[in-house]
Amino acid sequence: MSSTILRAMTADGSARIHVINSKEIVNRAIAYHRTAPTATAALGRLLTVTSLMGCMLGEKTDSITVTIEGDGDAGRLLAVSDYIGNVRGYIQNPDVDPPLKSNGKLDVSGAIGHGMLSVVKDMGGELPYTGAVPLVSGEIAEDIATYFAESEQVPTVCALGVLVDKDLSCRAAGGVIVQLLPFAAPDTVDLIERNAAELSRVSSLFDRGLSNEEIAQIALKDIPFDVFDELDVEYRCNCSREKTDAALRSLSKEKLYELLAEQVAEGKPEQLEVNCRFCNEHRVYDKKAIDKLF
Ligand SMILES: [Zn+2]
Repeated sequence: MSSTILRAMTADGSARIHVINSKEIVNRAIAYHRTAPTATAALGRLLTVTSLMGCMLGEKTDSITVTIEGDGDAGRLLAVSDYIGNVRGYIQNPDVDPPLKSNGKLDVSGAIGHGMLSVVKDMGGELPYTGAVPLVSGEIAEDIATYFAESEQVPTVCALGVLVDKDLSCRAAGGVIVQLLPFAAPDTVDLIERNAAELSRVSSLFDRGLSNEEIAQIALKDIPFDVFDELDVEYRCNCSREKTDAALRSLSKEKLYELLAEQVAEGKPEQLEVNCRFCNEHRVYDKKAIDKLF
């Protein structure tokens, strides 16, 4: 099962829009990280928007990493996307689940706290592009819009939503990014600003079963637009035994022996366990496996 991203542009060339239904991505994240509801909402929103931002990259080798570093109990949140929008991520404290806000909603900003949002785009050049802004709300969508406005000088409407069901699975999730292009027509800009209010409960739009295109029609109401395509994307971890081998090899054999000895001193089996932080895959190396690396 995959999620889909719709890409479209207004007929007058004033703005482009990306819409994602990310329910499958968020459910995969829940399965890997066993997140509590507020952690699901926070990580789910970050995965959703990072997928959209990845889809805006140009080249096959490009990737983007979005990190939220707040002083709240959630700790660090990080998501990485490839150039299509296949995404992976983690939250440092998947158990974070503060009391609901007075309006009955999950308190994502309370879990995240104050801090920074940073973006690293690896575009194949020597130095990656980096940008960072202080968190303005900790609810993520507004923070992303601020990042685009301040760091990339692109006026952006961003709406993100994750609805967690009673059984802790993701009931609905999705996101919308509308970005103005240079020389946008003022009338179109006014309409986009007016329509943005209709996106404030975007997860309920997805929950009602609306398609990506129907949601684009809400964001671009009264504005003619052309749909380019719809892309299948998923939660995808690219870890492998070979990559873990290489990471261990980058330490010295002596260091690895030292780590093995520490395990034994603690009364544990003589083996090293390497866990992938994105998909929780466990890879075990005993002494023989370590010798084989060199
Ligand atoms: Zn992995």
